[in-house]
Amino acid sequence: MKKHFETEAIRKQTERSQFNEHSTPLYLTSSFIFDDAEDMRTSFAEEKEKNLYSRFSNPNTSEFIDKIVAMEGAESGYAFATGMAAIFSTFGALLNSGDHIVSCRSVFGSTHTLFTKYLPKWNIETSYFNVNNPEASKETIETLIQPNTKILYAETPTNPAVDVLDLELLGEIAKKHNILLVVDNCFATPYLLNPIKYGADIVVHSATKLIDGQGRVLGGVAVGKKHLIREIYLFSRNTGPAMSPFNAWVLSKSLETLAVRVEKHCENALKVAEFLESQQKVNHVKYPFLKSHPQYKIAKKQMKLGGNIVAFEIAGGIDAGRNFLNNLKMCSLSANLGDTRTIVTHPAFTTHSKLSESDRLEVGITDGLVRISVGLEHIDDIINDLKNALNS
Ligand SMILES: *Cc1c(COP(=O)(O)O)cnc(C)c1O
Repeated sequence: MKKHFETEAIRKQTERSQFNEHSTPLYLTSSFIFDDAEDMRTSFAEEKEKNLYSRFSNPNTSEFIDKIVAMEGAESGYAFATGMAAIFSTFGALLNSGDHIVSCRSVFGSTHTLFTKYLPKWNIETSYFNVNNPEASKETIETLIQPNTKILYAETPTNPAVDVLDLELLGEIAKKHNILLVVDNCFATPYLLNPIKYGADIVVHSATKLIDGQGRVLGGVAVGKKHLIREIYLFSRNTGPAMSPFNAWVLSKSLETLAVRVEKHCENALKVAEFLESQQKVNHVKYPFLKSHPQYKIAKKQMKLGGNIVAFEIAGGIDAGRNFLNNLKMCSLSANLGDTRTIVTHPAFTTHSKLSESDRLEVGITDGLVRISVGLEHIDDIINDLKNALNS
């Protein structure tokens, strides 16, 4: 019988050593040895599966990858030093000069920089569809597809506006046009959403966020179809973005508690969203599992719970947002998200202040937009801190 998510996360484990340890030890070794010349020959010829060098594979990274592969329902995977290394290596391995990408407009900041600054160096251009307006429909996306389009790229829910993309629709479009669907599933985690069910060919994660969940280490992973991961693996084993065994060891232990942590994050986030909706100084709240969310039906269809990110529009724009941040006593001001600690950002004034107002609006960042990564502190303490800051 196929094991459940929580069980795979806990019981999938590297083979025990001669010491019979209960929990997987840390394999801090850069390389592995061979019994004889023939063993070395067959290993390098890939006639057998064996660890050779930790840039290629390591027992700790393999355990971490095997868990994510099981959680996402994928065939194969490779782990990276960071989420951006996973995203860049996916493009580097699967795209050729002159290829074209169709992407949702609001994507993680560094991914946007890849599209606009670095991929064009190799003559790879990107066209965008807008997720804020309901016209992100089939026809609009299809008109962007060209004969050289190779990848349809999506991130859901989006950062920081928490829009939700219809993966079933994107899966159909990718299939019909014979292009690869690549999904950044960082905000949802494999516990809430499995894009492969909807036709994604590759799923990428920043493991730095909810997968670590405690703000300690960086990591990334790409999982998906075997032949595509093979390309990504070969690209990476030669270019060197591998995850360190130490980070893999930490992250594999983190996965053991992913389900319970994410469950509680989502419970707290829904309560924060409902609290904010009741406040006079809040114009509107965006949370996938609030009925008022523009893509509530899609969120309900494809996500198990609403995630831990809540966005809201504070009345009074830039100044009110800055005031709110300055009056928080407990919640952290930080660039990370998905931590046990609740984190608040005000994109227009801080992370996205270099963009022009019209560029900000295109990705749903209004002057008063505040983003909260709801943590695991007691819900009353989180709400009290938000309430005090709203009212000062
Ligand atoms: C943080 C993040 C990334 C990048 O991950 P790093 O581990 O910081 O490199 C990519 N996509 C999304 C949605 C993220 O939130």
